[in-house]
Amino acid sequence: MAEDYRYMNDQRKIAYFSMELGLTAEMPTYSGGLGVLAGDTIRAAADLKVPMVAVALLHRKGYCRQKLDEHGNQSEEPVNWAIEDYLTPMPARAHMKVEGRDVVVRAWQRDIVGYGGFKIPVYFLDTDLPENDETHRGLTHHLYGGDERYRLCQEKVLGIGGVRMLRALGFNEIERFHMNEGHAALLSCELLDERRRSGGDPDRKPSEEDVEAVRRKCVFTTHTPVPAGHDQFKLDVVHRVLQERTIEALKDLSCIDDVLNMTFVALHLSHYVNGVAKRHGEISRQLFADYAIDSITNGVHARTWVSPPIQEVLDAHIPTWREDSYSLRNALSIPRRELWAGHVKAKKELLGYVSRTTSVEMDPEAFTIGFARRAATYKRADMFFDDLDRLRRIYDSAGALQVIYAGKAHPKDGGGKDLIRRIFQAKEALKDKIKVVYLPDYDIRVCRLMTGGVDLWLNTPEPPMEASGTSGMKAALNGIPSLSVLDGWWIEGWIEGTTGWSIGGMIKGVAEPADRAKDAEMLYDKMEYVILPLYYRERSQFMSVMRYCIALNGSFFNTQRMMAQYVLKAYFT
Ligand SMILES: *Cc1c(COP(=O)(O)O)cnc(C)c1O
Repeated sequence: MAEDYRYMNDQRKIAYFSMELGLTAEMPTYSGGLGVLAGDTIRAAADLKVPMVAVALLHRKGYCRQKLDEHGNQSEEPVNWAIEDYLTPMPARAHMKVEGRDVVVRAWQRDIVGYGGFKIPVYFLDTDLPENDETHRGLTHHLYGGDERYRLCQEKVLGIGGVRMLRALGFNEIERFHMNEGHAALLSCELLDERRRSGGDPDRKPSEEDVEAVRRKCVFTTHTPVPAGHDQFKLDVVHRVLQERTIEALKDLSCIDDVLNMTFVALHLSHYVNGVAKRHGEISRQLFADYAIDSITNGVHARTWVSPPIQEVLDAHIPTWREDSYSLRNALSIPRRELWAGHVKAKKELLGYVSRTTSVEMDPEAFTIGFARRAATYKRADMFFDDLDRLRRIYDSAGALQVIYAGKAHPKDGGGKDLIRRIFQAKEALKDKIKVVYLPDYDIRVCRLMTGGVDLWLNTPEPPMEASGTSGMKAALNGIPSLSVLDGWWIEGWIEGTTGWSIGGMIKGVAEPADRAKDAEMLYDKMEYVILPLYYRERSQFMSVMRYCIALNGSFFNTQRMMAQYVLKAYFT
């Protein structure tokens, strides 16, 4: 019985809201890092028995399936998935208005089970019901699809529909509502509105006391370091989608001027706000000087991201690692040869996948570089190919290398699509010497294979655009060092020559301004003079670096530590 009470809905204290949520590779309810982080967050909360419930949208047609032709032209297809195979429909219904029309919302449930058996219920909201208008049935179909109106409708379903659904399901004792990025900000308006409705005077405006009470309940995590990345809506769209009462309340709170900025809504109505790495916290404080903004550096869920061969090695030497991510600190006691043998197996699995999907046979002995992330221009995925002759010379003088790429461009991002084409051109130009492959349809599964199986994880974003980045943390858990621009989490995880290597330097604790030519030069220099010689000529030193990656970075950049910090700083305060 002592166990049971925590499973009851009215004992849940934390509600976690996220537009996207990556739980398994089969459920296309995420697009990239934000959704995968949300999934890892929930897994860690289940491990730590945090009394949480989570809410997202169903995304019946997913984000997109990526097809690439031989020139690297991307086309997209919707994803059709058998929702019933993964989720259970709930009988509860929430009722709301969208664009002045009644909309009925239902929820599909999946339980995430933690290490000790504790369960976190996750609800995916769905408006595709015969009661709804044709246009509103489609609101929970496409993740990041459609126009501004479609997005705002989705955010309304998530924020307002989500709170109402929790109430319909009997979650009446929630003490904290966590908004994972501004997409969920409208939940705070619903909490204000709940107070108005309970007060008996339907025309009452929110008082200072109402605003304070809502603030105490809300937590906001911002993920975007550039102003343009923040969710904004034009006023005509706002008037079309939201109700006048909500708009009036937002005006009174100064969250609307010539646009509705969701970040301001969330900032204004939260008692705790954080960025997702130390540097990102600093940048956010500069962007939003009127607000107190802390930082909690992201992590990844250890059991999810360690490859099966490395899991075996850890099981043999650090038997507590599955329940206690901090114990990865003991990785220095793993015999180098055993770690290496695990790595070789994981690399074979990856190269087997490469061969099956692209028909390219890569060399298991050759130094293998991985680069996978959303194909957005600021990530500068093509920087590695800025000087093809230099790359050929490095190959001849320092040793064989090969490169594995993956990543989807947003369907409407022409710049991102160009990037993929440029990588295909470089692939063609280098084909007599250096093997380059681009794995299609990057997802959780491909990411697991890649961050488990390459020899080096490369990252070249333009600072300060990378709020955190998490794929390098996944690599570190598998003992794979990073070569990366000093941005996001890497500023904290980087120890030169011990956990990996930097591109660019720091001046007074801040990364030097991006200079593409200089960055590319440093990338090549480190490859030629430091990393390849270490790999080919001082293998046992390279294996030491691998152990440090797990001991220093795997033991810290995980969601167990991250969740403990949310509990301490944001949830139970
Ligand atoms: C981890 C992950 C990401 C995030 O990687 P970044 O380093 O933040 O770019 C994106 N997509 C998938 C599928 C992932 O698993």
